[in-house]
Amino acid sequence: MKRTAIYPGTFDPITLGHMDVIHRGLKVFDRIVIGVAENPKKCPMFDLDTRLAMVHESVADNPAVEAVAFTGLLVDLAHEHHAAALLRGLRAASDFEYEFQMATMNRHLDERIESVFVMAREDYTFVSSRFIREISEMGGDVSALVPKPVLKHL
Ligand code: ADP
Repeated sequence: MKRTAIYPGTFDPITLGHMDVIHRGLKVFDRIVIGVAENPKKCPMFDLDTRLAMVHESVADNPAVEAVAFTGLLVDLAHEHHAAALLRGLRAASDFEYEFQMATMNRHLDERIESVFVMAREDYTFVSSRFIREISEMGGDVSALVPKPVLKHL
């Protein structure tokens, strides 16, 4: 039986930090389903279709990785894909508080689904979708920080 994890996020846009989480996750799981959240409260810069397209294009060469858009509960998405775990990344202590709350809430909703965290690669700890958006809007070079397919969308 294949071990599947859901990797949820806003991916506004997907970065090399996210890609690193996916590669680390594949050391532990056989299959990763990336859940691109609609997340209207975050007022994403890219609409859901574009965020999903950027993820699809970035993982197209890896048959162990799929991407879907989702709007409902994470635990429902996990059931739908027969996933045993939710995969998330941690960059710094500042990520911890929110991740801890989310993992605890998801555990409350469904005890069977475990949250699993991987640590960011040292040279990507400063990489966030927000910085990518801000720097590229101001004309800065982010080509070393995002997958190639993202560049044409920025
Ligand atoms: P969300 O809005 O759910 O936080 P994000 O797309 O910002 O969605 O992030 C999704 C997950 O990826 C989060 O767990 C976040 O901490 C993690 N992540 C984001 N950037 C990095 C990075 N550079 N290295 C490791 N993990 C990261």
